[in-house]
Amino acid sequence: MQRQARVVVIGGGIVGCSVVYHLARAGWTDVTLLERQELTSGSSWHAAGSLFTLTQPNLAAQLQLYSFRSYREIEQESGQPVGFHLTGGISICRSEEEVLAHTALQSACRRMGIESHFLSPEEAVRRCPILSPGRMAAALWEDEGGHVDPASATQAFATAARKLGARIERHCPVRDTRPRADGSWDVVTERGTIHAEYIVNAAGLWGREVGRMAGIDLPLMPVEHHYLVTEAIPEIADLGFELPQINDNEIGCYARQEGRGLLFGAYEGRCTHWSKDATPADFGHELLPDDLSRMEWNFEQAVGMMPCLAKAGIKRVINGPMIFSPDLAPLLGPHPALRNYYCANGVMTGFNQGPGVGKVLADWIVEGDPGLDAFAWDVARFGDWAPGAFTEARTRYFYEHRCERGYPAQEIEAGRPVSPMPIQEKLAGAGAVFGFSFGNEHVNWFAPLPGQCDTLSYRQPNWWQPVADEGRRIRETAGLMEFSALAKFSVEGPGSAAWLDRLLAGRLPEPGRLSLCPMLTPRGRVAGDLSVACLAPESYLVFGSDAMQLAYQRHFRAAAPPEGVRIANLSSALAGLHLCGPNARDILAQVAAGDVDNARFPFLSAARMPVAGVPDVIVLRVSFTGECGYELYMPRDREARVFDALQAAGAGHGLGLVGSRSLMMTRLEKSFPAWGLELSADHTPVESGLMRHVAMGKGDFFGRAALAARPLVRERIATFTVDAGADAVWGGEAIFLDGEPVGYVTSGGWGPAVGRHIAMGYVLPDAWQPGAAHEVEVLGRRRAAVLAPRPLYDPEGTRMRG
Ligand SMILES: Cc1cc2nc3c(=O)[nH]c(=O)nc-3n(C[C@H](O)[C@H](O)[C@H](O)COP(=O)(O)OP(=O)(O)OC[C@H]3O[C@@H](n4cnc5c(N)ncnc54)[C@H](O)[C@@H]3O)c2cc1C
Repeated sequence: MQRQARVVVIGGGIVGCSVVYHLARAGWTDVTLLERQELTSGSSWHAAGSLFTLTQPNLAAQLQLYSFRSYREIEQESGQPVGFHLTGGISICRSEEEVLAHTALQSACRRMGIESHFLSPEEAVRRCPILSPGRMAAALWEDEGGHVDPASATQAFATAARKLGARIERHCPVRDTRPRADGSWDVVTERGTIHAEYIVNAAGLWGREVGRMAGIDLPLMPVEHHYLVTEAIPEIADLGFELPQINDNEIGCYARQEGRGLLFGAYEGRCTHWSKDATPADFGHELLPDDLSRMEWNFEQAVGMMPCLAKAGIKRVINGPMIFSPDLAPLLGPHPALRNYYCANGVMTGFNQGPGVGKVLADWIVEGDPGLDAFAWDVARFGDWAPGAFTEARTRYFYEHRCERGYPAQEIEAGRPVSPMPIQEKLAGAGAVFGFSFGNEHVNWFAPLPGQCDTLSYRQPNWWQPVADEGRRIRETAGLMEFSALAKFSVEGPGSAAWLDRLLAGRLPEPGRLSLCPMLTPRGRVAGDLSVACLAPESYLVFGSDAMQLAYQRHFRAAAPPEGVRIANLSSALAGLHLCGPNARDILAQVAAGDVDNARFPFLSAARMPVAGVPDVIVLRVSFTGECGYELYMPRDREARVFDALQAAGAGHGLGLVGSRSLMMTRLEKSFPAWGLELSADHTPVESGLMRHVAMGKGDFFGRAALAARPLVRERIATFTVDAGADAVWGGEAIFLDGEPVGYVTSGGWGPAVGRHIAMGYVLPDAWQPGAAHEVEVLGRRRAAVLAPRPLYDPEGTRMRG
């Protein structure tokens, strides 16, 4: 075995083999894959191999489409047949509500060019004659559905990688991974140690164990999963064509033709975790004892839809383990705590996603950037709060609720709270309905009636009106919002200004000021929309999306802060409150010992001042609602005091408690883009409308060269009002012009001041036409939409500056 490799990939399942192939295809052929036993010795050998492309989020749809299309190619390139069956896919809708869910899914997938259409029950039965039309409201058809032989597909990626020059060592378990001071790694095996520039952990079921070798705890937990294969079924054997891939989401089942019978799989109603703490080292090409009683409910329901199942003999039962992350999506990318260590873990549906995962990960390693917004799968989306109890609760929840629909703005209770807010009880007493992000609780809205919590709807849920009322309060008097769930960093010490100036694309603020500074990827895309406050020379506070804090830290590290620059993550140390509205200043003036008069503390000011007797509260004059606004940050144990004082001071000023949903609605009226919705690494600042915050003339900064060399604008950000009537616009809806899809909605809601549905999104540059007859596809109906060339509310920004 060689002693040196540019990249060592650990694990020879579908994911590791795809990673090594894509690295080699990108020209990095000095790569070695190490497999403990034979290739596919984890989950890969016993997978059902079913493939589909209609899914969300966008990243998953995009990469599942890539995966689907890669099988023919890899078959040719490797010379290894992969058992690829292009059958099309049919998603059964048993209820009208499921039809709505699929209508929304269909619209969202148009962005990726994934075509689908609804079938009547009769047409569905014509294409899939084993179905019973009486049980169905409709079905959604996708052309790109089918299945692949898992072991052959894995081998094909390995063979193609070898042909390109990559090395694959079987029966070579990795025993340890040891970092060197220069960021490279020693990968220790029984056959010697390989020195590698980069490591990829693609160890599937053993991802946790391989992670622990490097000192990281990945939030993963294996679960058992059953499918069965029937004997020949006459209705299938006599068909003369192959059945499509069948998804019956409302009962958590999938099925496809296997030979002359059926392969039938179920997400059983009870999740059975397996090897919660550690995957046994000697587990390999084995199965777990089956227990068909767990599938009983699913099976009974399925028989109603596929009556031929009732009489079918069972040829084979598979109960195999697969390993999940807390949200069931992969954990990809450079681990934020380590140098040159990439994760390709937790890939739940490896044949749908493995080829795409390999492509993205190879791009990430070779280009230093995944080339698209990969945050939905980024390993950095979970912090050290996630492994253990949270992962167990969430994997159980998602497995057991597989047959339930996902709804817009849906919050999941399982595993919460991880980290309650200091004033959680006070807020709960006031009717707060909480949301969750990156381990933190935040308030979504305040329920006017006791005991109210979110209802779920594709139209307008119960919180629609109360949130609109909160929004009007912000516009008319004042709102107070718990605001702790933000990423907060201090950057201090000699050289801080120069380093931040190079890291960020915006112009740094002077002492006492705040500025909005995008951070760019090496490809000139948006990596973060940060607010930077300068409290003193060489002393900065950097604020951004809470979910991004580990991803930001990874960017900071990549930008190599010089000695002397001290960066601290204050996200959980500092609590935050946000006061906004025309009366905000009068309220703050009563409790702040500093001068907050507009002349001396104008828009984008930053200072430390005593507030309610708490010294050194960081006060920022900033607005995301379009009204006069202040953010206040203080140690967590002081939040209650400041909160109480503001509430008391606001009593005569119409102050009310408001949640983050009203913030998101009011910012739509201002066309302020939000991180993760409008803003992400999918777009450049030109496309996202952020160029007024980018200082091209200030000298070099990260991503500048790529931005300067990229005049091409593929899409333009746009705001619309939409005639959605009693429905709602949520994000994901396709935008049409002259009957053609020309864009997509990234977020939507209700403008509390303008009294209209508002959608933000992206359209093709030629379709950015004010006055043109745009339409937004809302639950299958195209609704008239008007492109707003300027913000709908206070376009001059006089209210937030005044
Ligand atoms: C019953 C069942 C049905 C499924 N059906 C489908 C389906 O229809 N469609 C679909 O897309 N997916 C399906 N899946 C999921 C799919 O099997 C997994 O997503 C996929 O196999 C994960 O691949 P992987 O490469 O990440 O991991 P694995 O297949 O677990 O591979 C990891 C590899 O790493 C090796 N390894 C581990 N530790 C070390 C070490 N220390 N040194 C060297 N090598 C090591 C292991 O031996 C193993 O070969 C199904 C899973 C189950 C259980």
